[in-house]
Amino acid sequence: MVGKIILTWQQHRDLVSIAKNSLPEESCALLVGKNKGKEVYIADLIPMKNSDSSALSFSIDAQDLIDTYQKVEEQGMQVVGIFHSHPAEPLPSQTDKKFMEINPVVWLIYSTLTDKSKAYIFEDEIKEVDILHIME
Ligand SMILES: [Zn+2]
Repeated sequence: MVGKIILTWQQHRDLVSIAKNSLPEESCALLVGKNKGKEVYIADLIPMKNSDSSALSFSIDAQDLIDTYQKVEEQGMQVVGIFHSHPAEPLPSQTDKKFMEINPVVWLIYSTLTDKSKAYIFEDEIKEVDILHIME
């Protein structure tokens, strides 16, 4: 049961920059770190190319994903979350919900419209996860 995702304010600012620099398209990034009980700690962000080039959806090229997961594992880390941005409210779309079920890590969504972030995870059903921003 994951209840909280913990990232630094700097990481938050970096994600906001990734999202704003990708406008009008959705942006995405992999969140690398560790699961400690109910908490997920983010150590690193890996910006990924949105191969949909879309303002309504995102996807990551399969080979890009395989290569990145391999690099992360070689560093003894784990992909513990997926970040993407919405030009709308930070609520999961139907497509997001489908992929959350397939990939049950924390999904962090940032809204370029409202400047708000929300996080979710699929555990039997989609649940909201608290976000905690910390100093470095
Ligand atoms: Zn989405």
